[in-house]
Amino acid sequence: MTDLTTAIEARRPSLIQLTQDLIRIPTLNPPGRHYLDICEFLQARMAPQGWDCELVRAHGAPGDSETYPRWNIVARHKGARSGDCVHFNSHHDVVEVGHGWTRDPFGGELDGDRIYGRGSCDMKGGLAASIIAAEAFIAENPDHAGTVEISATADEESGGFGGVAYLAERGDFARVNHVIIPEPLHKDRICLGHRGVWWAEIETQGRIAHGSMPFLGDCAVRHMGAVLEEMEATLWPLLAGKHTEMPVIPDGARSSTLNINSIHGGASEPEADYTGLPAPCVPDRCRIVIDRRFLIEEDLAEVKAEVTALLEKVKAQRPSFRYEVRDLFEVIPSMTDRDAPVVRTTAAAIERVLGREAGYVVSPGTYDQKHIDRIGKLKNCIAYGPGVLDLAHQPDEWVGVQDMLDSARVMALVLDDLLG
Ligand SMILES: [Zn+2]
Repeated sequence: MTDLTTAIEARRPSLIQLTQDLIRIPTLNPPGRHYLDICEFLQARMAPQGWDCELVRAHGAPGDSETYPRWNIVARHKGARSGDCVHFNSHHDVVEVGHGWTRDPFGGELDGDRIYGRGSCDMKGGLAASIIAAEAFIAENPDHAGTVEISATADEESGGFGGVAYLAERGDFARVNHVIIPEPLHKDRICLGHRGVWWAEIETQGRIAHGSMPFLGDCAVRHMGAVLEEMEATLWPLLAGKHTEMPVIPDGARSSTLNINSIHGGASEPEADYTGLPAPCVPDRCRIVIDRRFLIEEDLAEVKAEVTALLEKVKAQRPSFRYEVRDLFEVIPSMTDRDAPVVRTTAAAIERVLGREAGYVVSPGTYDQKHIDRIGKLKNCIAYGPGVLDLAHQPDEWVGVQDMLDSARVMALVLDDLLG
C-alpha cells in the first residue's frame, strides 16, 4: 500500500493536468458536443501506455446524428496472467452551464485545492481519479492478473442510451466481473444503487365550448383539479408512509415520492411577442407529467395500479370524467448486495486509506448502474468516487484535488486486492 500511495502522490501534477484538460473539452449534453474530441484525447493519453482503446459510436441511439454523434471509448489493459476484469465507467457528458458562475465554466481553473468547471465534480474528476489509480497500479504491478478497463461514455445525463446502455447491449459487460462508477458520492461512501423511476403523462379530457357558456362544454382543467385534490387527500399521504430499507440519501428520499413535473391545460401559452388577449374557450385537454420514484420493496405494476385506482375513484364521482395514462420512462430500482465482492473490497480499501468505516448509500435518482444491472445482467456494481454530490449541476462546480487523490488511492487498492 505504501508503494501505491507514493505512486499516486507522485502523480498529483498529472491528476490536476488531466482533470483540467477534461474540463476544457466542453462536452455539453444536450445536444452532445465534442464527444469524439474527448474520446480521442483519452485515446492519445492511454494507447501509448499499452491500453487497447476502442472508440464506439452508438449508431441509431437517441440523439445520435452526423452533427452530434454519440462517441464512447473503452480502454483495456490486459495483465500477464488470467484473472478478473475490473471496469471503471465514467460518463464524459456534462449538463448545461446555467447562470450564476463567477469562474470560467470550461477554464479548469485551479484555486487552492479546488479545480473549477462544469463537470469537474460530475464527473470528470472521478474519471481522472480512476485513470490515475489504474496508471499507478499498473506501474507498480506490471505483471498484474486479469484486465483493467476504463470507459468514458456518452449521454448519462440524458438517460445513457447512447452510452452505457449501448455498450451493455453489445455485450461489453459479459466479460466484466466488477464495476465501479466514479460518480461524486464522496470518498468515504459506497453507493449501492438507486430507487426506481416511473414517468407518465396523465391526460384528462373534456369538450371545448365558448367560455361564456361553460355549461355547454366540459372543462378538462376542472377534472384535473379533482385528480390533484384526490392526490393531496390520499396519494401523497400513502407515499409518505412507505419507508424503505434502502439507505437512500438524503433522508427525505427514504420514502416513495411523487413530483408533478408539469401541468398544462387549455390554449397554448401565447408567443412572447403576442400582445393580444387570449380567446375564451373551455379547455378540452389537461395534462400533467408525473415523476414517481419508487422503492426496492415496491413493484412497478403496483405503483401504476395506485394511480389507476385513484383515477377510477375520481371517475366514479364525476360522470363525464375521461382520462388517459401514457408511460414515458421507467427504471427498476437497483441495489447491490453488501456482501458483493466489489462492495467488500472497496469498503476494506476505504478503511485502510481513510482510517474510518465506509458508509453505504443509495441514490435518490438513477445513473448508469441501471443499464449494467438490467441489460448487462451484472449485479457486482457500485458507484464510488470523489466530489460532493450537492455541487453537481450547480454554478461554480468544483472538485477537490485531495479528494481525488484519496479516492484514487482507494481505487488503486481495490485493483491491488482484485488483480495484484
Ligand atoms: Zn454524473
